[in-house]
Amino acid sequence: TPTIGVLALQGDVREHRAALEAAGARTITVRRERELDEVDGIVLPGGESTTVGRLLRVFDLLEPLRTRLKDGLPAYGSCAGMILLASRILDTVPGAEHLDALDVTVRRNAFGRQVDSFETDLQVSGVDGGPVRAVFIRAPWVESVGPDVEILATVPAGNGAAGRAVAVRQGPVLATSFHPEITGDLRVHRLFVDIARGRR
Ligand code: GLN
Repeated sequence: TPTIGVLALQGDVREHRAALEAAGARTITVRRERELDEVDGIVLPGGESTTVGRLLRVFDLLEPLRTRLKDGLPAYGSCAGMILLASRILDTVPGAEHLDALDVTVRRNAFGRQVDSFETDLQVSGVDGGPVRAVFIRAPWVESVGPDVEILATVPAGNGAAGRAVAVRQGPVLATSFHPEITGDLRVHRLFVDIARGRR
């Protein structure tokens, strides 16, 4: 059984833990560097990316986490977590911290005011069994990706943001703009647990 750490500085930690445990992982919360040594993967929950970035620095986790990600620690970031993993962030605040573990440019709060929260069904590559119900809450999108990044899902036609990438993977690093932890659909968490096990 893999042990997955859920970064527990802010955001929907409990929902991710429940989804990961239901998907077959053991979970611990991560607030200190030594806890990073116990995990086979880490989840960065949704919340507010600039706040979590600041807290990562306050808790002395920024450099330790960057180092482990560079060394190949599997990671899954949802929404704010995607922003934190990204190498480049648009529409953020000056000095915002990030982990630089995913070769993408993300745009914060990309969907604009009217539709800044919405739901849609998405086909996610690597997730079998039909579309995933995707809940977007003041979500980022992926504006561009580097050569090693695979786009797993894009916003379907009929939405003003049609074609925008909202799920990506680069090796053991997975990120979604949306929040599968609140829908009861475990498939995205299962995918990540498999990645952390080295099976996918
Ligand atoms: N808008 C938030 C941010 O910029 C992300 C929202 C979320 O995680 N639901 O960090």
